[in-house]
Amino acid sequence: LDDNIAKAQGFMARFRKDGVMNHIDGQNAPAMSGETFTTISPVDLSELAPVARGGAADIDNAVAAAKAAFPAWSKTPGAERRKILIKVAEAIEARAEEIAFTECMDTGQALRFMSKAAIRGAANFRFFADQAPTAEDGQALRNPTQMNVTSRRAIGPVGVITPWNTPFMLSTWKIAPALAAGCTVVHKPAEFSPMTAKLLAEIAEEAGLPKGVLNVVNGFGEDAGKRLTEHPGIKAIAFVGESRTGSMIMAQGAATLKRVHFELGGKNPVIIFDDADIDRAVDAAVFMIYSLNGERCTSSSRLLVQDTIYDEVTRRVAEAAGRIKVGHPLDPDTVVGPVIHPEHEEKVMSYFAKAQEEGATIAVGGAKVGEQGCYIAPTLFTQATNDMAIAQEEIFGPVLTAIPFKDDADALEIANGVQYGLAAYLWTRDLDRAMRMTDALDAGMMWVNSENIRHLPSPFGGTKASGIGRDGGDWSFDFYMETVNVSFPR
Ligand code: NAD
Repeated sequence: LDDNIAKAQGFMARFRKDGVMNHIDGQNAPAMSGETFTTISPVDLSELAPVARGGAADIDNAVAAAKAAFPAWSKTPGAERRKILIKVAEAIEARAEEIAFTECMDTGQALRFMSKAAIRGAANFRFFADQAPTAEDGQALRNPTQMNVTSRRAIGPVGVITPWNTPFMLSTWKIAPALAAGCTVVHKPAEFSPMTAKLLAEIAEEAGLPKGVLNVVNGFGEDAGKRLTEHPGIKAIAFVGESRTGSMIMAQGAATLKRVHFELGGKNPVIIFDDADIDRAVDAAVFMIYSLNGERCTSSSRLLVQDTIYDEVTRRVAEAAGRIKVGHPLDPDTVVGPVIHPEHEEKVMSYFAKAQEEGATIAVGGAKVGEQGCYIAPTLFTQATNDMAIAQEEIFGPVLTAIPFKDDADALEIANGVQYGLAAYLWTRDLDRAMRMTDALDAGMMWVNSENIRHLPSPFGGTKASGIGRDGGDWSFDFYMETVNVSFPR
């Protein structure tokens, strides 16, 4: 651990010295106002670096750079864009350790997951790069009098606004397809975890991405973020974050008719029937809530268990949660690190009192771990009902709420009885039941007898308050491109 901490300090020394600046038109840029804010590590609340506090003027500069770079980048042949983006993927792989270590210190996420997240960032670039050569392709639609030819073209400069959980991986998931489609980007990373966004812009340019194609402006949502969503030069906003922020962005973007793509909150059920493979179901339920500190949009934060096996399953989940190693994110054995920030820690911990007031039981956890840093014990609430705040609200920490159900209809009513509809996990050996349940579950993504395993060509996104639109495969290109139709007489 000490070696890892020393290594992380080495990686971050430049930020400590020079700060995390904006990145505009290939240049390191302080905020026009000269203002900075401080990013702290949730490990011990130490100050990691000053960060440029960008505002409207910085966004305007970044949009000007993205606009200027758009004609050349969008006209660069797809095969050429592919080559550059593959080089970006290779460069990410070469610096994966630096990215992972920096991310661990900035976010508190455990190294065992962040090293994979950095590599997944490279995979996102490779996957979308490979589609760049055919992204503009369309089809011919013929009727007796006309030939219609469709094709796609990049929509223009786009804004990408990302949250603080796994920021590197998430931003590549948005930025890679935008660049592959021929768009230029202004990225506004989350204020709690700004470091790896700057790394990505530098890595991409060193790998050959032309200047101005990817720009980064740090700052707060209410000024830098707001201006980006209102800017007439920005054609679309890809946003990942809270549902209520999504509503604000939609309103802010209305005057300029922004195209929006939203990946928002979740309160995802894992539903375990008594005919399930209980060992695997328990393992998956534990993994899907406690990995990544539970700060994961697709985490299974509601455990719905058939009443016949409820006591056994909750006992086993509580035992497993009690055994999880909570510790320094750079300790290779750590599963749960500190949550992102003292403000978020306070929010997560507020649910412990709420659970007790509402009449639920804290079966395990329910407390801070240690004196220093934002460490929270993996927690399980039992005896919960679906009307409780702990069953309805996104807690976004290592906290699971268990609710018993009687039968299929009861499970469905509870599962669908929340404002969110991002993901659902179903455990049963009965194929008919799996078909019926998945047909009726209100969620954009469902996994049957599996934890969340991503397949990049498949659609990713939510229903209800969990989002608008889908990413992945060609869905990403549909968002970042305009489809045009040209009609000829026959
Ligand atoms: P957040 O909504 O508070 O902030 C996200 C980003 O939006 C930040 O960069 C922030 O500065 C910016 N922002 C805030 N107000 C803004 C405004 N008025 N205009 C423009 N930008 C603004 O979210 P968070 O707390 O950083 O992240 C956690 C949330 O993200 C959770 O709700 C989680 O479920 C969600 N999330 C969803 C997915 C998904 O794929 N569905 C993935 C990861 C995280």
